[in-house]
Amino acid sequence: MADTLYIVVPCYNEEAVLPETSRRLGDKLSALTAAGKITPESRVLFVNDGSKDKTWALIQELHEKDSRFLGANLSRNRGHQNALLAGLMTAKDRCDAAVSMDADLQDDIDAVDGMLERYAEGCDIVYGVRSSRKKDTFFKRFTAEAFYRMMDCMGAETVFNHADYRLMSRRALEGLAEFREVNLFLRGIVPMIGYNTGVVEYERGERFAGESKYPLKKMLAFALEGITSLSTRPIRMVTGLGFLIFLISILMLIYSIYRWATGATIIGWASVICSVWAIGGLILLSLGVIGEYVGKIYLETKARPRFLIQELLEDTDETDS
Ligand code: UDP
Ligand code: MG
Repeated sequence: MADTLYIVVPCYNEEAVLPETSRRLGDKLSALTAAGKITPESRVLFVNDGSKDKTWALIQELHEKDSRFLGANLSRNRGHQNALLAGLMTAKDRCDAAVSMDADLQDDIDAVDGMLERYAEGCDIVYGVRSSRKKDTFFKRFTAEAFYRMMDCMGAETVFNHADYRLMSRRALEGLAEFREVNLFLRGIVPMIGYNTGVVEYERGERFAGESKYPLKKMLAFALEGITSLSTRPIRMVTGLGFLIFLISILMLIYSIYRWATGATIIGWASVICSVWAIGGLILLSLGVIGEYVGKIYLETKARPRFLIQELLEDTDETDS
């Protein structure tokens, strides 16, 4: 028995790729429907994340021409993760399973077939995992792999080399809806949902048009967001550091008393200056780490909406259900 699939695609300034992306996704839907793997009610849902270019106009046009393309227009730019969540939450009540992918189709869309197979075998979440990064530039590959390693040693568990290309069943989406956090880091939250999971490997291609919307600065912010919203290990590290420095200070105290007793106390300007700077730096760093968490708590207690949908383009003349 076939299920209804929604493909959720967040788009931010993607006018350069949308025509090609929609063509390929439309073909994919047709092929899967023809093969009886999904129902004809399956859709592609584009989420416009407050783009400054013609992205939304393009989505409207696509929807008019082909009702299999739906659109959700966010009230403003909220970032990739929030846009994705908006799309998944919109799809949740309309589909049996949803696949999320980027607008630039760097993720091989043929992996959807494999995801659907795993889903049919009973997996609620199927992760798309990159088998190799041959096509990425050295810089992107290096920074991205460093990202996963750093996340791991900071105590944030994620699936290695898995970004946001995944299939989630309706049940998993309902689970995701229960996670109310405002500081969103989906690839850390999704593994917490549990259920049966599977993995599909694919090769990641190059962006075929347009520019990356994740420059290094955004990527670093994203890594920090991931670590501080998933784990408190950095705070524990600060505590450990404080403890270590306390031990050193006891040794220093004993040493100072010894120097004083032997009458050689005036030398040591360099060591005093060094410790003033080092300790001052460490205190500021530690305060910063703690501040990150306090800031998170502040935002969470406000519980502001994670996204607002300004307009939703949906099937209007639906006779069934
Ligand atoms: N994106 C978004 N809002 C943003 C930034 C990015 O919805 O503020 C979308 C973007 O349109 C794309 C996806 O997130 O579909 C991933 O972005 P990109 O391909 O530029 O990232 P990269 O592949 O370079 O990491
Ligand atoms: Mg990309």
